[in-house]
Amino acid sequence: MKVLVINAGSSSLKYQLYNMTDESVLASGRVERIGMDSSIVTHEPTGKPEVRDVSEILDHVTAVKRVIDMLTHDEHGVISSMDEIDAVGHRIVHGGEVFKNSVLVTAEVKNEIKRLFDLAPLHNPAHMMGITAVDNNLPNVPQAVVFDTAFHQTMPASSYLYPIPKVLYRRHKIRRYGFHGTSHAYVSDVAASYLKKPLNELKMVTCHIGNGASVTAILDGKSYDTSMGMTPLEGLMMGTRSGDIDPAIVPFVMGKEELTLSEVNSMLNKHSGMMAISGVSSDMREVIDAMNEGDENAKLAFDMYVYRVRKYIGAYAAAMNGIDTLIFTAGVGENSSVLREAVCKGITFLGIELDDEKNAIRSKEAREISTAASRVKVLVVPTNEELLIARDTFELVQNASK
Ligand code: ADP
Repeated sequence: MKVLVINAGSSSLKYQLYNMTDESVLASGRVERIGMDSSIVTHEPTGKPEVRDVSEILDHVTAVKRVIDMLTHDEHGVISSMDEIDAVGHRIVHGGEVFKNSVLVTAEVKNEIKRLFDLAPLHNPAHMMGITAVDNNLPNVPQAVVFDTAFHQTMPASSYLYPIPKVLYRRHKIRRYGFHGTSHAYVSDVAASYLKKPLNELKMVTCHIGNGASVTAILDGKSYDTSMGMTPLEGLMMGTRSGDIDPAIVPFVMGKEELTLSEVNSMLNKHSGMMAISGVSSDMREVIDAMNEGDENAKLAFDMYVYRVRKYIGAYAAAMNGIDTLIFTAGVGENSSVLREAVCKGITFLGIELDDEKNAIRSKEAREISTAASRVKVLVVPTNEELLIARDTFELVQNASK
């Protein structure tokens, strides 16, 4: 069975075509600048050269059509006709409280996703455009939806409720949802296999640290708490997002600086975090480079960033009354030995002992970076959200046809 995985944004669409027989990627790519006259399709067929095509792509329906054209192209294609696409899996950011698992797309599922537009106004409408575009181009192909929030639906009320008037939860569903769930689920699963231990016997803290970043406490194989909240703004300091701040800062700044709601929202989401403190970049590599050249603001940004990761690991070790596995993943977590060392060297009291040589190794494989004597196993596990989406889609479609 071949599964096409789609991650549709408002002006972009990323895709991967999987052969589920061996879970190999046949092709991947992205469409950028949808809605403009010079949209770009970058197509990477496995084993063949990358192709880049610039043309007018005004909507998502055309974007999906262009993807199918690429996949079936005489030269750069990897399948002979679109009939070879057996199912499509979509990444959906927000599943609210309704979706605790991945599901096949039905009319009711589409309505639920639309009802959730309020909670994820930047993401869910774009995902919906992706689903509609597949409806138009591949009308008879089953589709599944996989939610970033679903994995965190196991959190107890003591983790997901905010201590604010309860009526706000009842009326507006204001609560912690958490994000990056597909990634936290994937890396915890890979780590348990790597350690040859049942997932439900481990007390894990997973650190997904990329441009966006979140930490999750995983107890009995389930999300017990996570640092992102009702939106992906809460928790760690990120590239351009503030993460946790005193909520009273919002009305205070609005008054003093005469900012509107949307201006303060934009300040906290786009003009804060590492960018704001370093004054250099939101990109961790550039911040580390500047720090190494003696830039004090970059050093402060790095120190604040690391300090907040450490605080969350400590908090979640306390929340679970212990920790035996610590996992790093995503762009920074997978690639920055400097960040991992700075985080781990400050929390040795938890029983974390980093092996400097292993930490310095670069690899695309899951690996342990703690010493043999370390009580807590520290692992680097490359994330693969697309593969998990493909697997869920494959399983749902197979079960439906039984
Ligand atoms: P996104 O959240 O957009 O998916 P990624 O998971 O791709 O982000 O992570 C992007 C981040 O990873 C950037 O800040 C980038 O600087 C960082 N990164 C990638 N490689 C390295 C590296 N070798 N050292 C430090 N940071 C790195």
